[in-house]
Amino acid sequence: MTVKAIREVPFFRPHIVGTELEYVTEVISNGQISSDGHFTKRCSQLLEESFDIPCVLLTPSCTASLEMAAILAGVGPGDEVVMPSFTFVSTASAFVRLGARPAFVDICPKTLNIDVDRIEAAITAKTKAIVPVHYAGVSCDMENIRRVARRHGLMVIEDAAQGVNAQWRGHFLGSLGQLAAYSFHTTKNFVCGEGGALCVNDEALIDRAHIIREKGTNRRQFELGQVEKYTWVDIGSSYVPSEISSAFLLAQLEQMDNVNNRRERLDARYRQLLQPLVDDRFLRLPSIPTDCSSNYHLFYVLINQGFCRAKLIQFLRDHGVQATFHYVPLHVSPVGASFGYQRGDFPVTESVSSQLVRLPFFDDLQPEDQEYVVATMRQFFHSCT
Ligand SMILES: *Cc1c(COP(=O)(O)O)cnc(C)c1O
Repeated sequence: MTVKAIREVPFFRPHIVGTELEYVTEVISNGQISSDGHFTKRCSQLLEESFDIPCVLLTPSCTASLEMAAILAGVGPGDEVVMPSFTFVSTASAFVRLGARPAFVDICPKTLNIDVDRIEAAITAKTKAIVPVHYAGVSCDMENIRRVARRHGLMVIEDAAQGVNAQWRGHFLGSLGQLAAYSFHTTKNFVCGEGGALCVNDEALIDRAHIIREKGTNRRQFELGQVEKYTWVDIGSSYVPSEISSAFLLAQLEQMDNVNNRRERLDARYRQLLQPLVDDRFLRLPSIPTDCSSNYHLFYVLINQGFCRAKLIQFLRDHGVQATFHYVPLHVSPVGASFGYQRGDFPVTESVSSQLVRLPFFDDLQPEDQEYVVATMRQFFHSCT
C-alpha cells in the first residue's frame, strides 16, 4: 500500500538546549580536549550533588560503565549474574565477556521491570550480582531487590541507562545499588552523542574504579600527589570520555529539570489522547507505581491480543509515523540460546515484547504530531474491527 503521508513524525530527534556550542568552543579555545578537564569534572560534580552519589565517573558509554562495574564486582568465569531478559544487549554482554552466565528472570507485566518474586529462584552458589534495569525511567522494586541481595551477599548493579533524573521514594536512580550505570547516548534524555557514567555508591570501590578507568594505572593517585610516579597496578582499559563530549553534556545536564517537565507534559498528553483506545480495549498504557517518579524516557503502548503489531507499525510508517518495537528478548537471541535458553522460558517477557509499540517521543514533539499519531492509530484499529 502506498499512501501519501500528510505529516511526517520521526521516532526521535536529539534535543539541543542551546548552550552546547558555547561550551564546546570554550574547550577548543582552552586547548584541553582529552579527558578529565574542567567540563568532565563539572559534569561529575553536578551529578554527584544533584543525585547524592559519592562518586560519578564519566565514561564513553553506559556499556563501558557496565563493563567497569563487572570488573569491580569481581565477576569471572563460571559466575552468574541475575538480570531480566527484557533489556538491551549491554546489560548482559558486560558480564558475559568476563566469562559469566546471565541468569535471566522474567519481568512484571505492570512495569516491565524484573519480577522480584522470581529473583530468589534464579540465585545459586555461583551468583555474584543482581542487575535491575529501570525500564523507561521507572524504578524497579528496589526495597525487595536490596533485601534479597543482602540476604545472599550479592552486589546490586543498577542499569540506570534510561533512569537519569528519575526517582524511587525520593532517591535518585543510580544512587541505590553499590554501582550503577547511566547512558548519555543520543536516544536518551540527556545526551552528548555517545557517553555514560559509572556511579560508585560503595566508597570502598572508588579507588579501584579510578584505576580501572585509567587503563589500570594509578594515575589519579599521582595527580593527587599521593605517589611519585604513576604505573601499571591492575587490569583496566580506557574508560574516559573526550572533554568535547563532556562540554556538550554539561549544557544538557544544566537543563535537566526543564527537559523532565517538557517530557512529563508530552506523556500526559499521549495518555489523554489514547484513553478512548484503552476504553475500546485496543491497547493498554504503562502504569507508574506510586513510589516512582519517572523521567519519561520513552512512551509505549501494549497492543491487546487479536491485533497485529507488525501491521500497526507498518500502517503508521505508511502514514509517515515512525514507531517501533522494543527488545528482542536476550534469551531468544543467538547468544542467549548458546546459554541453553529457549522460547517459552519467560512467558511475560515474550508476550510483552510481542505487544509493545514505542511511539515517537522526544522533547520537540509538537501537540499536532501527537494528535496525528493517535488519529492514525485510531484509523488502524477501526479498520480492523
Ligand atoms: C541505552 C542502554 C544501554 C547502552 O547505553 P550506551 O550508552 O549506548 O552504551 C544499556 N542498557 C540499557 C537498558 C539501555 O537502554
